Amino acid sequence: MSHFLSFHGGAGTVTGSRFLVETGNTRFLVDAGLFQGLKKLREMNWAKLRFDPASLDFILLTHAHIDHAGFLPRLTQQGFRGPVHATRASLDLARLLLMDAAKIQEEDAAFANRKGFSKHRPALPLYTSEDAEQAISLIEPLDYGDWIEPAAGVRASFRNAGHILGAAMIELRLRTAGGERTIVFSGDVGRYGVPLHSDPDPRPECDVLVMEATYGDREHDPRPMGDQIREALVTAIERRGTVLIPSFAVGRAQLVTLLLRQLIHSGELPEIPIHIDSPMAVDATRIYGQHLRDLSLDAADGEDGFGSLVPRNVQFHRSVEESKSLNLLPGPRIIISASGMLTSGRVLHHLKRLLPDEKNLILLVGFQAAGTRGRAMMEGARTIRVHGEDVPVRARFIPIGGLSAHADRGELLRWVRSQPKPPQTIFVVHAEEKAANAFARLLSSELGVRTIEPELGQRFEL
Ligand SMILES: [Zn+2]
Repeated sequence: MSHFLSFHGGAGTVTGSRFLVETGNTRFLVDAGLFQGLKKLREMNWAKLRFDPASLDFILLTHAHIDHAGFLPRLTQQGFRGPVHATRASLDLARLLLMDAAKIQEEDAAFANRKGFSKHRPALPLYTSEDAEQAISLIEPLDYGDWIEPAAGVRASFRNAGHILGAAMIELRLRTAGGERTIVFSGDVGRYGVPLHSDPDPRPECDVLVMEATYGDREHDPRPMGDQIREALVTAIERRGTVLIPSFAVGRAQLVTLLLRQLIHSGELPEIPIHIDSPMAVDATRIYGQHLRDLSLDAADGEDGFGSLVPRNVQFHRSVEESKSLNLLPGPRIIISASGMLTSGRVLHHLKRLLPDEKNLILLVGFQAAGTRGRAMMEGARTIRVHGEDVPVRARFIPIGGLSAHADRGELLRWVRSQPKPPQTIFVVHAEEKAANAFARLLSSELGVRTIEPELGQRFEL
């Protein structure tokens, strides 16, 4: 029996992870991610699929991030009936993230209809809240280390990937005439020795490895994360400026608040007001608090629950009125708001207000994809377009790469080597072309393994 692996996303780009495995009569996806970033990528979410969603037997989900799970509602809309296997914490986060993604799709469609700028009349959302609810209902939670057999001859186990709460690498064993063939999907690999998330588990022994290389051509700042944040913040606080931290609501916002908590409690930073201005970040922090004993989190420092993740002086803002009221408050203070790449959401109102004043600081704490405002700022843009206005960039702005939830080049290599026996073949995915090239070269020279950088739509016999 032949087995095939084809790449329907996450190939040549960091988003849209969708890997189709075909074995005998069984067909399933590993991850069902949304394409994000540049318009030409986002448009690919609408393209006719090269497989029939109704023909999928199941889906294995590495983690809840939208670029890995955000396409699930579209698949249920087109006839996929489950199940989806994911860790318990991924289910909790997916509930939050998919409902939010559906709301954004619905709002975008409504906005396009109001403004009449869509080619399609009426403009339709990519999927609705009902589609998202249905997708969530298909998720069957499991724990790290469990073995499941979702189809005859297919076994799978999820291990901690250390990337965000509940994130997993997936070990897949396919029955063949000559015994079992093992394929490991790395999911997104986390970092070593950082606060909040625990280290990734060692790589399982495998014949084939499908591995991410988001930072395959770069090293993160090796200085401790807390030091980087403190150094960046000190001047802005002295100048009584407002610090805006655009942050992904899930994972990153919790890491930032935990670092701030440690700095404030140790006296390295003064006790200034901190605002988490994002309903999603508020909910995600609560979910993190409920999973403090989860293997993918480092044990909290004594206190239990929610409180151990945030500073004492933190305020949570869910409503738009509360968010707007922040505009009236003087510095020094810190506002943590979404989205992390300055693409949408409340953070834009804060950006517009804070960017023209040099005493303020914008701290970029995550990966900034091509085509986003965050990337434009990193490339030295003098003005940034927000809500139809060109806003001058006068505030200081500091990118902190070390806070990434992704392993860097050295950590990726360390993880591949955490199992002494190298795979026969490594597919390098989930990276922009330059990073994928560089990491594939590094793997071949360091490990002597065959590497493949698959293109979108390519199909390989395993
Ligand atoms: Zn991720």
